[in-house]
Amino acid sequence: MPERFTMTRTNQHAFDLIVVGAGSGGYAAARTARDLGANVALVDRGPLGGLCILAGCMPSKTLIATGDAAHDVREARALGVNAGEPNVDFKAVMKRKREIIKGFADYRIEGIETFPVFSGEATFASPHVLHVGDDVLIAKAFVIATGSTVAPPVFPGLEEAGYIDSDEALDREVPPRSLIVLGGGYVGCELGQFYARIGVPTTILIRSPQLLSAEDADVGEGLTRYLREEGIAIETRAQVGRVSLARDGKRVVHFVQDGVEKSVVAHEILYALGRVPNVAGLDLEAAGVRYHAIGGIETDETLRTSQPHIFAVGDVTGRFLLVHIAIQQGEIAARNAIHQTSERADYRISKTHTIFTDPQVATVGESEKELRKAGIPYLTASMPFDDHGKAISIGKTKGFVKMMAAPLDGRILGAAILGPDASDLIHEMIVAMYYGATVFDFVKIPHLHPTMAEILTYPAEDIVAQIAARRALVAVP
Ligand SMILES: Cc1cc2nc3c(=O)[nH]c(=O)nc-3n(C[C@H](O)[C@H](O)[C@H](O)COP(=O)(O)OP(=O)(O)OC[C@H]3O[C@@H](n4cnc5c(N)ncnc54)[C@H](O)[C@@H]3O)c2cc1C
Repeated sequence: MPERFTMTRTNQHAFDLIVVGAGSGGYAAARTARDLGANVALVDRGPLGGLCILAGCMPSKTLIATGDAAHDVREARALGVNAGEPNVDFKAVMKRKREIIKGFADYRIEGIETFPVFSGEATFASPHVLHVGDDVLIAKAFVIATGSTVAPPVFPGLEEAGYIDSDEALDREVPPRSLIVLGGGYVGCELGQFYARIGVPTTILIRSPQLLSAEDADVGEGLTRYLREEGIAIETRAQVGRVSLARDGKRVVHFVQDGVEKSVVAHEILYALGRVPNVAGLDLEAAGVRYHAIGGIETDETLRTSQPHIFAVGDVTGRFLLVHIAIQQGEIAARNAIHQTSERADYRISKTHTIFTDPQVATVGESEKELRKAGIPYLTASMPFDDHGKAISIGKTKGFVKMMAAPLDGRILGAAILGPDASDLIHEMIVAMYYGATVFDFVKIPHLHPTMAEILTYPAEDIVAQIAARRALVAVP
């Protein structure tokens, strides 16, 4: 970008690139553009740090570690260790979480403050001019990375009865005495299991027949069964009608299940039915940027919006809502903005995702559901952890791994893991798919023994055998 804007009035500032929103996506965009030699500013209304650090990935995983530790203490009996019922010190749990998050946030803020930062709500006045309080910011290009916010409640009576969202569930003084979770996506599952594991009677209400309705049925059904087995009540196919407040202050959720009217009562409701993009107040009309209130800002694969010098990345685009994708998009958008190129985001591998329940869920590539929908032929094989030596030895036998591959050449098309440490195990499959590996390649990769990772060789071997049998059939005269 050869030409640079210069400062003209005291409250008017000019940059090569202005990034609106200093979360994961925006920060990645700003760093990338600066590394390319651009003059970059960040705008954020605060608090600084971004969702992942302040109220998303990091606080939730910090708390989940406590839930898992409590569970392991209970389960230790199976390994011959009699520790009794764990006594969770909730104040200490939250103190630990706050200290850890403060450390992460301080470090990130230090990084953010190496840029010129304008604090306040950003509002476009025109496609090249942004207002932040009294400051008028002008840029050749913009990246909008304003993230998402909890979706507004949709059920009659919920607002009046009162509820908590994920922000509040992650930062409480005392645990709820009992909890109803509305929603069976990853936030509902992770936080519902955390509270259940520290001793809060928990009910999850979902409309679909299984948790994680977007995943393959075997994954969602498996998780539903395991969470039920550890005492979480899960009401499936529940059509929530309304919410009311009982005389004793408890919340009542009224729902219809298989044509029968029912209700469930608890002290607190966690509303976990998704997030919507943060577009309010940006005046995207003035910028000429097309967006939808629920679907987010429209972009093409180069992350350009309908206004070619304005890019959008991360949750505000309404698509993936994952940190590693916000970062990937931020980096690509910055390169495209500064070099005026058209590098495209490729989500084939990066749409990999994980859910930090126990057992965890992790997938890469296409699911069976997606392959069937696209009419892509595939072979599949799976292996349960309760048939795997290392898993049996360490007492972590819940779940399975499965692999999908092309019937002709064995190219790996996707994999899913429901099981212990799935979020780490999946990386072997991510690397394999990144390099376009086939199941024939995969079975040649050495695997240490006895390890959890070697379980992945079994479905690969199975598919190799399936392909060999098909080839033998074809070869028969
Ligand atoms: C409970 C929970 C757990 C999660 N766990 C995971 C996980 O394990 N793994 C994972 O990959 N993802 C997880 N996510 C999702 C992940 O946190 C988000 O996808 C990611 O943080 C989005 O980054 P972003 O840069 O798009 O937005 P954000 O990080 O939200 O940044 C947006 C920034 O824009 C600023 N802003 C907004 N509007 C304006 C405005 N008008 N003017 C100025 N500034 C503005 C905000 O202050 C904020 O700093 C989780 C989310 C939640 C809620």
